[in-house]
Amino acid sequence: MKICDLFKRKSIFSFEVFPPKRTGSVNTIYDTVEKLKSLNPDFISVTYGAGGSENKDSTLKIASAIKNNYGIESVAHLPCINLTKSDVLKMLEDFKSAGVKNILALRGDINPNFTPKKDFKYASDLITFIRENGDFNIIAACYPEGHNESPSIIEDIRNLKRKVDAGANQLITQLFFDNSYFYSFRERAAIAGINVPIQAGIMPVVNKKQIERMVTLCRVNLPKKFLTIMQRYENNPEAMRDAGVAYAIDQIVDLIAHGVDGIHLYTMNNPDIAHRIYEAINTLLVA
Ligand code: FAD
Repeated sequence: MKICDLFKRKSIFSFEVFPPKRTGSVNTIYDTVEKLKSLNPDFISVTYGAGGSENKDSTLKIASAIKNNYGIESVAHLPCINLTKSDVLKMLEDFKSAGVKNILALRGDINPNFTPKKDFKYASDLITFIRENGDFNIIAACYPEGHNESPSIIEDIRNLKRKVDAGANQLITQLFFDNSYFYSFRERAAIAGINVPIQAGIMPVVNKKQIERMVTLCRVNLPKKFLTIMQRYENNPEAMRDAGVAYAIDQIVDLIAHGVDGIHLYTMNNPDIAHRIYEAINTLLVA
């Protein structure tokens, strides 16, 4: 099934998982998927390491298993910066054979250790290429606070419109902790004529390391309320986890009340956290 059809019926609730690290067995992810299955997600997306991760073949394997063994719709992330057109053609064939119909088409982060291939400069180039070479539902990334390389949020919206015009059917945001950025972004998108569903990407922050990593990787504002909570509990892992879950639930309740098209939870492969959040919000997800 193409996921974009689901938005007409309800608020979407979905999860992101990542392939286990190089040293881990790919099978460890299936325990996570098994536990997520009981939450009846609308789909599960699987990340792909654009920086030459040695586990990149795992994305296809896991997305295929989610779809065919667990009966859950899956989305394969596909960052193009280090791929050639013939690499992508081969991957599209593999996705098709595996029954994976949904692709999150990305550029990928520029990694100083890899010289990018020249076939795809931006995600919009990949989206056009996928459209021309297969029948997939295409999802694209978006940034409520602007992408970290972008000179301005206006430029960023223009570039987002390019992705939608190229054929993206739906969008998923980068994580954010202040919903007001999301609401302003949604308005800018509507003014720019971007009319596809936008799912809010929410990450429950459950440890201090996660925050440090996020701040270096993305342009994301940490509001005072969030910082106060994190500083208060940074040396108490259990309290930090509970506070992070509570913060994410608070964000999601507010987003659903404001008519968000869907929530995409960055699970960090932690099904217990996903369970706690689901228990708190599942009755709100009705149309
Ligand atoms: P693009 O849309 O190509 O944008 C990149 C930059 O170029 C932006 O600043 C944009 O404004 C600018 N730009 C775009 N088009 C043009 C144009 N025509 N002219 C001038 N400037 C332009 N990374 C991974 O490696 N693996 C993953 O699995 C992964 N999953 C992700 C999932 C989500 C939901 C999100 C939000 C991000 C994910 N990322 C992942 C990170 C993503 O690859 C990076 O944020 C990357 O830096 C940008 O990717 P993009 O697809 O948004 O790029």
